[in-house]
Amino acid sequence: MAEALDIVSRACSPGRGEFVPLAESFGRVLAKPVTSDVAWPPFDTSAMDGFAVRIADLATTRTLAVSARAAAGDAPGVPLPPGEAIRVMTGAPLPDGADAIVPVEDADAKSEPGRVSFRETPSRGAHVRRKGESIAAGTELLAAGRRLDAAGVALSALAGAEPVFVHRRPRVTIAVTGNELVSAGREPGAGQLRDSNGPMLLALCRARGIAAAAKLPVSDDEESVRLLFAKAGDDEDVLVTSGGVSAGDFDLLPAAAERAGFEMLFHGVSMRPGKPVAFARRGATLWLGLPGNPVSSAVCFRLFGRRALDALEGDGAPGPRFLRGRLARSVSVRGRRETYRDARLDRSGSETRIDPVEGRGSHDLAAHAAADALLRIPADAGGLAEGDEADYLPLGA
Ligand code: AMP
Ligand code: MG
Repeated sequence: MAEALDIVSRACSPGRGEFVPLAESFGRVLAKPVTSDVAWPPFDTSAMDGFAVRIADLATTRTLAVSARAAAGDAPGVPLPPGEAIRVMTGAPLPDGADAIVPVEDADAKSEPGRVSFRETPSRGAHVRRKGESIAAGTELLAAGRRLDAAGVALSALAGAEPVFVHRRPRVTIAVTGNELVSAGREPGAGQLRDSNGPMLLALCRARGIAAAAKLPVSDDEESVRLLFAKAGDDEDVLVTSGGVSAGDFDLLPAAAERAGFEMLFHGVSMRPGKPVAFARRGATLWLGLPGNPVSSAVCFRLFGRRALDALEGDGAPGPRFLRGRLARSVSVRGRRETYRDARLDRSGSETRIDPVEGRGSHDLAAHAAADALLRIPADAGGLAEGDEADYLPLGA
């Protein structure tokens, strides 16, 4: 498993970057760092609605005259007259000479017109935000390879990174293979079943922010499969297929890919489910061949597909990203392969409990749909006991 993921990482490097408007940058990966051209806060400012004062003026009195006010957007540099307070709003520049803000809640400005009195003397710097206390101008805020979440988008805006330079998104197409398949809107005939992998894989791409395109379904005959690989790369950086990669007489894809000039980077991984998964490359075009069984397809896409897409986007921390939890009950596995089990998470306690879902196997889409995580059981472990620590991959998204 680890070796296979590593092979995917090495085969997938990010292409050119492009500028996108910040409003469309959510989920994109920075192709160069974001550096702030301003300090933050950009000037000394009030953190509260209140009164700017000079503490020395309060040595002998608790009452000051108020003759001016300052609001957010006013230019800095307004002097605080000696012996006076200035009414300031949140975000207003701190008047020159002021060294504290008294919040309105702690002031009485109603008893005497034009004057304000305070219950207590404020401490120096109270409710004042100093220029640059959060960010000094010229600071690198976000490294290249960072995927922009909402806070990252906000920091980029603060830093003036508009438009923002991000890695190009890979173009992905999905092709399902199998003579038995009909589309979801149709009534399956004898021996037929509805294609669930196609819609699932489109959804999994969408969850990563990638609008993959669906190709026409491919039948299990040499000519259809030959054409699929002959045209691979015309419309995509990554061709993702389902089915046709295992050991049946009609599993034609790996041999056809090789005949079409693809270099097989791996075919077969010591894992369960998903053992026949294939990964190959021809020039800049990648092929990820997922097994047809729905749960195998899902598991392999969430591991290898995720790694490939993240790496192609230049993500500095490419997935899949596992978390740690504790087994709610014991689980045993047959064989020695690294195993992935559908599981439900219980986060109600102080630590996450992982409860494996009883499934009937790699075709059991209903069990998979009831899961919110994949439990990883290490190779050779034979299983895990209740209370053991284990890795899980959250399935949300
Ligand atoms: P294969 O990997 O082509 O041997 O397919 C393995 C199993 O997965 C078979 O039972 C197929 O009918 C089923 N299968 C293949 N493709 C799909 C698909 N797109 N949607 C749902 N089931 C599929
Ligand atoms: Mg098939």
